Amino acid sequence: MEGKPFLHISILYHMMVIDFHTHLFSDAVASDRQHYLDADPAFRSVYSNPESRITTADQLVEAMDRAGINRSVVCGFGWETPGFCERENDAIIEAVQRHPDRLVGLGTVSGDRNPDSTAKEIRRIRDAGLLGLGELRPDALGWLDDPIYGFDRIATQLRENQMILLMHTSEPVGHAYPGKERATPERLAPLLKHLSGVPTILAHAGGGLPFYAYMPEVADALTDVYVDTAALPYLYHPSVLDALVAAHGPDRLLFGTDFPLMEPERVLRYVDESNLNADDKARLLGGNAAALLALIAPAR
Ligand SMILES: [Zn+2]
Repeated sequence: MEGKPFLHISILYHMMVIDFHTHLFSDAVASDRQHYLDADPAFRSVYSNPESRITTADQLVEAMDRAGINRSVVCGFGWETPGFCERENDAIIEAVQRHPDRLVGLGTVSGDRNPDSTAKEIRRIRDAGLLGLGELRPDALGWLDDPIYGFDRIATQLRENQMILLMHTSEPVGHAYPGKERATPERLAPLLKHLSGVPTILAHAGGGLPFYAYMPEVADALTDVYVDTAALPYLYHPSVLDALVAAHGPDRLLFGTDFPLMEPERVLRYVDESNLNADDKARLLGGNAAALLALIAPAR
């Protein structure tokens, strides 16, 4: 009988599944959404819709247990209000310390345009064990404008501290939705030049940027760039995963759910609906993430 060798099935069965894109909020935000909606315009723009779920570390770990996810990378939210990023970074630090074998964390910095306090916060979260910054919204931070305010300084700091960066991206075409912003391929590509040596994760398949990797100069710009599958079931047919492997290679594709926006089971099913072979599927679901984490974790 034709079919995939059993070896592949057993690799899949025993493999580690790592969700590289999840979110959590502190109990304070989860229990008083309205207060934060009133206080923060960025939060209001995404979370005014009562159907946008706000979940805590415990709810994340419960969802991981249900779906068989071994580890998750938790991201913060890019608050606009000075002080909010710091406080929510504390919630992520605390969650990672409470679940050291399940969670790794990324922090956020706000667009308050105060380079000294941003630098201080990056050092602080690094010392507390977070691995980088994410999910940052380049549009909200002014990084897509010319000149790019404060971006080089942050990139240098990430490089020096061996930290990673996970950025929100959007597609230049297709349907509108909350969170569809200006971080599209033509604006992301110039930004990447400043990030050489910083492992960078472009969420949501990089808004389609990897499809331009057939142009040699774009392929060069994408050397240190990973893309994740966060929210892709809302955006693309599952065969986009086959196309991403063809265009960007099998080693820089990361499984991400965007939980609580999507339940992990839904994105796992989506991966199954692609035509990826068992090896590429295993890389996507955990192998690539494990290699990336091993690359940056020894620095801690
Ligand atoms: Zn996003």
